[in-house]
Amino acid sequence: MNITVFLGAPGSGKGTQAKQLVEKFEFVHLSTGDMLRSAIKQQLPVGLKAKTYMDQGNLVPDSVMIELIEEALLSLPKSEDSNIILDGFPRTVPQAKSLDSKAKTRISKAVNFLVPESVLIPRLTGRRVCPNCGESFHLIFIPPTKKDTCNKCSSAIIQRADDVEEVVRRRLDIFKSQNQGLVDYFSEQNKLINLNADKSVSVIQDELLKVLKQ
Ligand code: AMP
Repeated sequence: MNITVFLGAPGSGKGTQAKQLVEKFEFVHLSTGDMLRSAIKQQLPVGLKAKTYMDQGNLVPDSVMIELIEEALLSLPKSEDSNIILDGFPRTVPQAKSLDSKAKTRISKAVNFLVPESVLIPRLTGRRVCPNCGESFHLIFIPPTKKDTCNKCSSAIIQRADDVEEVVRRRLDIFKSQNQGLVDYFSEQNKLINLNADKSVSVIQDELLKVLKQ
């Protein structure tokens, strides 16, 4: 099992890139945000614990997140050559340390997606998602074919509660307060790779593939 961590601000394209790697190659994508949203939908205890934090743009406590990711990693088939992408975890240094204490030899890289804040805000506030199938749209950059309707399953698309501007700003502030610690942590272990992610999806995918093969 080979783990690559994706670091980067909300809206920096980590999830989009990870989904492409899953579709084109045999990567396993674990997104803690998606896991929490699914737990909320199913009204699981972890979802109920997380919802208020998420809606307000705050981080869910480390103890909850560490348990969630450990269970997810343990439930994966044990294969020597599986490639796991962790998207949205770790978000704090204690989370990184906990992951290392369980999986140290298996975390190979931390890719740091770099995008200017001026680009992130309109990306996030214009985002719309399908609550049914999870497909993602953008009012300007990727509008649905039929207004307010998912192209894939025809459900009504919505704005995530944490994509409204006030909450977006809070999420970005929290990201800034935590990320440097993570960058330093992985840099000290020679695992950090900075990626200019202010480019087209296909260009970033090509660059990412080169980085992952190194
Ligand atoms: P995301 O979809 O990755 O932007 O995550 C959405 C929300 O889920 C975040 O704003 C946090 O409230 C919560 N969340 C996801 N991953 C973590 C994490 N590793 N630590 C704490 N909170 C998290």
